[in-house]
Amino acid sequence: MNEDDIRNKVLKCFSCVKSPCQKGCPLNNDIKGFIKLTKEEKYKEAFLLLSETTVLPSVCGRVCPHSKQCEGKCVRGIIKDSRAVEIGKIEAFIGDMALKNDWTINSLPLKNKKVAVVGGGPSGLTCAAFLRKNGYNVTIYEKHNYLGGLLYHGIPQFRLGKKLLRKVIDKILELGIDVRLNQSIGKDFSLEDLENEYDAVFLGFGANLSSKMNIPGEDLKGVYGGNELLENNNHPDYEGKVVVVSGGGDVAMDVARTIKRKNAKKVYVIYRRSEKESPAEENEIRKAKEEGVEFLFKNNILGIYGNDRVEKVEVIKTELVKKEGDDRLSPVNIEKSNYYLSCDYVVMAIGSHPESSIVNSLGLVLDKRGRILIDKDGHTSKEKVFAGGDLAGTKSTVAFASRAGRDAAYAIMKYLENSV
Ligand SMILES: Cc1cc2nc3c(=O)[nH]c(=O)nc-3n(C[C@H](O)[C@H](O)[C@H](O)COP(=O)(O)OP(=O)(O)OC[C@H]3O[C@@H](n4cnc5c(N)ncnc54)[C@H](O)[C@@H]3O)c2cc1C
Repeated sequence: MNEDDIRNKVLKCFSCVKSPCQKGCPLNNDIKGFIKLTKEEKYKEAFLLLSETTVLPSVCGRVCPHSKQCEGKCVRGIIKDSRAVEIGKIEAFIGDMALKNDWTINSLPLKNKKVAVVGGGPSGLTCAAFLRKNGYNVTIYEKHNYLGGLLYHGIPQFRLGKKLLRKVIDKILELGIDVRLNQSIGKDFSLEDLENEYDAVFLGFGANLSSKMNIPGEDLKGVYGGNELLENNNHPDYEGKVVVVSGGGDVAMDVARTIKRKNAKKVYVIYRRSEKESPAEENEIRKAKEEGVEFLFKNNILGIYGNDRVEKVEVIKTELVKKEGDDRLSPVNIEKSNYYLSCDYVVMAIGSHPESSIVNSLGLVLDKRGRILIDKDGHTSKEKVFAGGDLAGTKSTVAFASRAGRDAAYAIMKYLENSV
């Protein structure tokens, strides 16, 4: 995106008095403000304004589901035959300008307080950055030998380049954050170790184990979890094979597109609701279709069958009905509409959960779904311990995880200021 393109995009902003776009942004970025500064070609000032609320403009500008967040609230987009201002592209442009020009944000001098952050995904990175900017010593503990979490091993290269991501992370670390890689909580150290060594702890180690459908055949060879496939990058050979992906969200889209690019003969995405109800971004569905992924909307997998390994799935058609008290239409199986679909692999992409052996060992109160229970400030049931992002059931998007990290950083600062 060059400056001329961006100039045309910013001119479309009405600078609405009420700025509904800002309310649509999980990070509450001052969108009207940074677009105005961009219009005036004050790019550095636009970056500094964005930096008050986010450390991930280059990332969020590319991967946020904008049509469901800021752009979905844009007044221009609500007017008939008119498109929303492309806020994401403008945000990415400003973030990229900052990387290119090496613009930095100032950190306050260090205080005598130290905080441990577990997990180097968007929640952990953001929490660490806001703490360090405000003068706290921060150390990130990360299981892998790299940072970024799902930004690195979930969202594929074709949507978010690894080189760019590394630059974003390096910039955050330049604030003066320590990192300990290859360090897994529950294995290499315990929560108690951190409680003894640090003044406060933030847990942001995500929830990246694929959920199961609880249908027959899920233990057969050839059935995979989408999250694990992407994180461990240990795909089987798809050449000439037929793959069924179960799910209708962005993870299902990324998994299906990744597998198609690895030369699978056919990739079906099976989702029990209609295309309109699908949680995936419209844009992502369109791109998957363009790349040859086939969609079976309003279809539900009943079972996976095969002698030793996957040979076929049993599928049933669904209709959508309005159930009392539900905002969303519910899928109901249509009797006798069952059929079989031959396939070689089945990949589950219907949701994820945190590793129970780890969360159960922390001595923290969990919610009904096995996630870490937090209050509105991200405080857990232990005095020194805060949490946020996917492991605490925050809405699973980058911006919501990042917001959780930022909110927890401010709550930790308040806690530390009040503690002797
Ligand atoms: C395939 C896929 C595509 C997605 N696409 C989008 C998208 O386009 N847009 C969007 O907004 N959202 C998207 N999401 C959701 C978004 O990526 C997540 O909501 C967000 O990354 C959650 O951030 P987090 O910090 O809570 O967790 P994570 O990003 O999972 O980060 C957790 C970190 O903790 C580390 N960790 C795990 N266990 C341990 C341990 N025991 N000890 C120490 N460290 C540990 C992990 O290695 C990781 O670095 C996608 C998710 C997936 C799976």
